[in-house]
Amino acid sequence: MADIDPELKRPLRVLVAGPRGFCAGVDRAIRIVELALEKWGAPVYVRHEIVHNRFVVDSLRAKGAVFVEELDEVPEDVPVIFSAHGVAKSVPKAAEARKMVYVDATCPLVSKVHRQAERLIEQGRHIIFVGHAGHPEVIGTFGQVPEGAMTLVETIEDAESAVFADTSRLAFLTQTTLSVDDTHAIVDALRRRFPEIQAPRGEDICYATSNRQDAVKAIAGDCDVVFVIGAPNSSNSLRLREVAERCGARAYLVQRAAELDWAWLDGANTVGISAGASAPEVLVQELLEALGKRCVLSVEQISTAVEDVAFKLPRVLSE
Ligand code: SF4
Repeated sequence: MADIDPELKRPLRVLVAGPRGFCAGVDRAIRIVELALEKWGAPVYVRHEIVHNRFVVDSLRAKGAVFVEELDEVPEDVPVIFSAHGVAKSVPKAAEARKMVYVDATCPLVSKVHRQAERLIEQGRHIIFVGHAGHPEVIGTFGQVPEGAMTLVETIEDAESAVFADTSRLAFLTQTTLSVDDTHAIVDALRRRFPEIQAPRGEDICYATSNRQDAVKAIAGDCDVVFVIGAPNSSNSLRLREVAERCGARAYLVQRAAELDWAWLDGANTVGISAGASAPEVLVQELLEALGKRCVLSVEQISTAVEDVAFKLPRVLSE
């Protein structure tokens, strides 16, 4: 897009939420693919999008990563990486049966939920899992326990109506990327109905999800419009858009600046920007640049937390 005459540009206040963008789990997963390419050379196969972001996936594809949905699409003698969202136990088992070289890029915070699920089953409990049907993290977590040992609850209505044979041995766990507020409401409903239900040791919703939602809450009330950079299949990005909307802003999920519809800015004096945990900072800068071509920006960084989380890489790639 060509720059417009500076005289014709209108002023626009921009509040940029922090923390935003990449979390430690996404950072680690991308690094795993890059290191695998360095170690073994291309192609390296990746089961499912390593993280839900087209820009990231396309960049890794350009370096030699091949993305597939199922393990049986991976040829013999080629390394394969499992995505950050986690996989059912059957997936590494199948890889081992085929003697494949594989690296599991599951975020350690998702793995922690998997281990909790295993422990609860050992204790003879039935697990209520709060999450979104069809999301790879949910599929992976259900794949940690025997069939029928876990029930999915997506809404308060589900929590109010679910029926269990034995209500004395229930426990709940949650997906890591949910809306903090919606999840509290669902958990409250579960606790009301099943006072003995066992809760997870800490929060299952991860630090990155909570921090990004808090940061959006801090800016959205002052914004006419909020842009969240993220993919339509990125759970945590979708939640950020909802949070902004609930604070009264018009909120849009965009993957790239090119998707920006200028009509969205009609009547807007203050715009907020955030980015989901799988969206790189370069896309935030791209959006700011695009806005700057039509408006005179006054940009304010609003930070609500400092993050210093980093996860270790798998030993096979760090040595
Ligand atoms: S959003 Fe949270 S659970 Fe998901 S990869 Fe990032 S840190 Fe891990």
